Amino acid sequence: MIIGGHMSISGGFSDAPRRAGEIGLNAMQIFTKNQRQWIAKPIDNDEAREFIKNSKKYGIIETVAHASYLINLATEDVEKFEKSINSMIHESQRSSMLGIRYLIFHPGAHMGKGESYGLRRIVEGIDRIIENLPPDVYVTIETTAGQGSNLGYKFEHISEILSRISDEKRVRVCIDTCHIFAAGYELRSREGYEKTMEEFENLVGFKYLSVIHLNDSEKHLGSRVDRHAQIGKGYIGEMGFKNILRDRRLENTPMILETPGGELLYPEDIKVIKKILEDDHHD
Ligand code: MN
Ligand code: MN
Ligand code: ZN
Repeated sequence: MIIGGHMSISGGFSDAPRRAGEIGLNAMQIFTKNQRQWIAKPIDNDEAREFIKNSKKYGIIETVAHASYLINLATEDVEKFEKSINSMIHESQRSSMLGIRYLIFHPGAHMGKGESYGLRRIVEGIDRIIENLPPDVYVTIETTAGQGSNLGYKFEHISEILSRISDEKRVRVCIDTCHIFAAGYELRSREGYEKTMEEFENLVGFKYLSVIHLNDSEKHLGSRVDRHAQIGKGYIGEMGFKNILRDRRLENTPMILETPGGELLYPEDIKVIKKILEDDHHD
């Protein structure tokens, strides 16, 4: 399986693969720049090369990128909308330099303008990004918990975006297990899980699914609150992760931890994942 974790790049890009490899991960997620600032100094070629070399050396099969938290394509604010588009293009270029294929972002919050307004704006924004996207990078839409006015908490939103953009081949989808659970999609029971995944297949399609964010949820089903928990320690629990981890449709999809405690506590999450996978052999 491909199990990764969100890794810090505060010490530079090239050291992250070593730290990930040493705790037993074979994938990673990084920010390509400070996630709370619009601008960043350019990545130099040597550092990009070193990052790619170390990824091979430490057995990192796939690294994905998470875009800045400042990005909001659903906004009415013209300046923020333009900055969001430029930031996505800029980050896609940085991703390409680092050999990263999937640039994950949250579709956006309409801030009171309504869901159909927000979705129209997101489609317009993605179309503009796609025009300037490096050929080896995919704009990757993350499902959200639906906190505040955030869109993307229903598979219907993703489906609508995919059907309206100019070129859906440049777009992929990331399922965050905490987010969809908080948005109201059951994952714990066998039947509930199958119903959720059937809905995903019918509305979006597994062919678009390229990344899973593997997080438990500190809040209840349908709470619409985004609070991650360590694997098995939240309301999704080991039952839910058993369904996810043994789903053959997901076996080649990178699963990225974004759990509290980060790299320091990923070994605990990995232990729970291994236990669930081992138990599986005995059923
Ligand atoms: Mn995210
Ligand atoms: Mn996530
Ligand atoms: Zn989250």
